[in-house]
This record gives sequence, C-alpha cells and structure tokens, in this order.
Amino acid sequence: MKLYQKYPIQLSNSLSGVKEPFEPITPGFVGMYVCGPTVYNNVHLGNTRTFLTFDIISRYFRFLGYKVRYVRNITDVGHLVGDVDEGEDKIGKKARLEQLEPMEIVKRYTEDFHTVMRQFNILPPSIEPSATGHIVEQINITKKLIDLGLAYEVNGSVYFDVKKYNQSHHYGILSGRNIEELMESGRELDSQDEKREKIDFALWKKASPEHIMRWPSPWGDGFPGWHIECTVMSTKYLGETFDLHGGGMDLKFPHHECEIAQATGANGKTPVKYWIHSNMLTVNGQKMSKSLGNSFLPAELFTGNHPMLQKGYSPMTVRFFMLQSHYSSTLDFSNEALNAAEKGYKKLSNALSLVKTLTHAGGASANADTEKKLLQLIDECYQNMSDDFNTAKTLAVLFEMASQINTWAGQKEMLSEVSTDVFEKFKITYIAFMEEALGLKEEKSVNNDLLEGTINVLIGLRKRVRTDRNFALSDKIRDDLKAIGIQLKDGKDGEMSYEIES
Ligand code: AMP
Ligand code: ZN
Repeated sequence: MKLYQKYPIQLSNSLSGVKEPFEPITPGFVGMYVCGPTVYNNVHLGNTRTFLTFDIISRYFRFLGYKVRYVRNITDVGHLVGDVDEGEDKIGKKARLEQLEPMEIVKRYTEDFHTVMRQFNILPPSIEPSATGHIVEQINITKKLIDLGLAYEVNGSVYFDVKKYNQSHHYGILSGRNIEELMESGRELDSQDEKREKIDFALWKKASPEHIMRWPSPWGDGFPGWHIECTVMSTKYLGETFDLHGGGMDLKFPHHECEIAQATGANGKTPVKYWIHSNMLTVNGQKMSKSLGNSFLPAELFTGNHPMLQKGYSPMTVRFFMLQSHYSSTLDFSNEALNAAEKGYKKLSNALSLVKTLTHAGGASANADTEKKLLQLIDECYQNMSDDFNTAKTLAVLFEMASQINTWAGQKEMLSEVSTDVFEKFKITYIAFMEEALGLKEEKSVNNDLLEGTINVLIGLRKRVRTDRNFALSDKIRDDLKAIGIQLKDGKDGEMSYEIES
C-alpha cells in the first residue's frame, strides 16, 4: 500500500469552495502548475510565502509516493504595469529606466529569484518555462480563439470576447464574480477603446513604435497578453486537463478566471481539477507589496538591515515562521513573531541534531502505553499534512516529538521503554518530516568561541599596525569589521574591545 493510499489527501479546492479528497487524473501521478514571478524586480518576502506554499505541496505529494511534474513559469513579457491591458510592460519599463536590454533585466532578476529560492530551501520545479519561449504557441491559441468566434481583432490587437464566452460557459466560475456587475462597474469605455466590452481582455497587443519587446504575428508586430502565457504553458506540459493549479490569492481574479475562460474556450474542456490559492503575507494587516512600500527583501531580513527590523533572522527561521500558519490564512509579519519563531525553530533543529546521534541498544522491555503514544504522534504527522497540508498542526506534533527526543538525550535509559523498531520509526519520521516534507534544514549556529578568537586575532593585528604607525591599515580593519556589524572600541592605554551590533 502506498503512503498516499494510507493517508489520502484532502484539499480545499477554490473552484468548488470546499475541502475535497484529492484524486489525480492518472493514479499515482500529479501534474501541477504554479504562476511564477514577473522578473522585473527582486522578489520580496510576500512572493516567497506563495512559492513556499507550493514547495510544501509538491514536496508532500512526493513524500507520499506520487510522481510529480511541477511546472512553474517565469513571466518575462506581457505583464503590464497596473495588471491591466493598458500601460507599459513591467520588464520593458525597467529596461528603459535602467538603459538595459529587457533580457538583461530578465536574467538579473531570474537569478535573484533562484538565489532566494535556494536560500529558503525551496526546491526547483520540474519545468520552468518562460513566456518569451512560447510566443508561437500563444499566437496559435489566439488564432484558434478567433476562429471559434471567441476573440476579435482590432487595430492589430486581439481581445477575448467575455460576453460571447459566457453565453455557453460560466465566466466567474472561480472568483464568483458576476458578469453583469463587472460590466456595470468601473470606468466606461470611451471612443478610443478598442474593446467591445470593458471585461474583455487582451490576448495579443499591438506594439507601439517605442515598445521594445515585440514579435511578428498575423496581426502585425506585437506581444502576448499576460493571461495567455499560463494557459499555453500549463496545457503544453501537463495536458488540456491537469490536476492542480496554484498561485497567490491576488491572482484569482482576473488572471486565473481568464486562464479558465481561454483554455475552456479553446479546448472545450475544464483545464484544472483543483485550484489552490495561498493567502497573503501582510505587514500591520496590509498586503506586503513593492508598490505599497512595505516590502522586505529576503536579504534585508537575513542581515536585519531594514528600518522595521530589530535584527537579522536566518532563512530557516523565516521558513519556520511561515509554516507556523496555514497557507489559507493571512500571516502578519512582526519582529515579535520572528523572535518567537527563532526560539521555536532552534528547539526543533536541536532535536534534529540530537535524534541523529541517538541509537537504540536493543533488548528493550517495551512499555505498551509509551509505544502507543509514540506511534500516535507518527500517525498525526501524516494525518495533519494530509489534511489540506496543515503545516501549523504538523509543527505542533513535531514539538511533542522534540520533547521526547530531549528526554531520551538526557536519560538514555528511557530508550529501553520502546522497542528498536518503534524507536527507529520515530527517529526516521522526525527526520523525514523536518527535512523532506517541511524542508527545514539544520542550520549551523555561529560558533561563538571561534568568532571571539578570530576577532581577538584581528585586534592583535590592529594593535601591531598602529605601533608601526600604519594608520591607514588600522582604519581599514576597523571599518571592514564595522561593515559586517562588529564595532571596535579604542580604550585608554591602547586597549581595544568590541561589540557585535544586534
Ligand atoms: P508577481 O511577481 O507580482 O507576479 O507575484 C508572484 C507571486 O507572489 C504571485 O503568486 C503573487 O500572488 C504572490 N504574492 C505577491 N504579493 C504577495 C504577498 N504579500 N503575500 C503572498 N504572496 C504574494
Ligand atoms: Zn499565471
């Protein structure tokens, strides 16, 4: 029996609005697609939360024995400023401002994204396609939608006809938005507008002469709309109907609603069986976002170099902090919460180091009650994760397991209360849930003795160069140490002390 049969997954499907048993289209296999970053900026901590959620989900599918194909794209064209059909391309704009080629922008921020993913131990997807690598497919599906009467061309741009689509399908099926209300609300179309209705959205946009990113098409030079890339890349690699599509809650409408309309219109099939939307990371209750000016870069969080931060936190502390809440709840950032997470993570991480050193001597006189309790904890880890990937509840169980590990480490004789078999099962489960399912690695804490010794060597060296009246080098040692947060203090009689800035 496979683990996924023993612990079947239940997940909250945002399409149906209820928790459902997860039944993949092909038994034993999972195809999942997640909207990746628009690479025109450094990813902030909020973006990271979303990618962490889907890292956990793909990890857990694999953990239970599924074979997973995980596709997460790179948006390198078509995402316009303001997330609507007018305005400059986000990447094109950045390229113009920095006087770089758009592809230089794309390369820079894709690399930054990958670095951040590695720092947080977020595993790479199986396929990472980019929008610019799929222009031909985007033109083809646009042609198909025109042929089917679901899209129309105006002045070199092509728009999806939402009203027409809605005659035979349901636009709003995911977001619950009502098409009549959408048509009434917002800005009225004026004579310059090309769209028939304001809810129509661009599949292809004509490139103005100054627009840098452009490709030839049957409608003239242009570039694809934002939503069409995800339809093309998800169905190309996962099939016309696939298991799971994810993204942040803010993408549900219009992005995901439009994806459903395009794919259903073109292929005559519902594209996705299960939709998962992860909730936002907030600061004082407000969504963390670059444009609101309340975002942190992961690097700022690690160094503590940000006005809102009291100190720096390690990547695993931040990962733990995020896993303490369920992906469907908002998570509010605060120094207090991170300080608490630092303590909590240290406890789990210490137990992880300890349990690896523990061995069972064998020949135990097992205590049935103790064994029962331990087996129950093991079972609860799986039950909690299979219940809509509940990392918060799983961590609570791991804390109980960590207490047990600490007891054993302090009183080795208590290991004789359990059989070798149960002990090994317990040990493997703790390690596997920490490292594989939750991706929480051991972090080597700074060795204070080593640090102190090194600083004292540098202090000695600085005294020496001062005696030699090499003040330039003496200042350089002081300034370089200051730059990494170590402040040297010159006392009376040439004595020196230091302080580590927190
Ligand atoms: P973008 O690069 O803007 O397309 O965003 C990449 C991903 O980050 C999307 O799935 C967004 O939903 C997600 N995202 C943006 N802001 C936040 C936030 N404050 N908390 C969680 N996810 C976010
Ligand atoms: Zn997308």
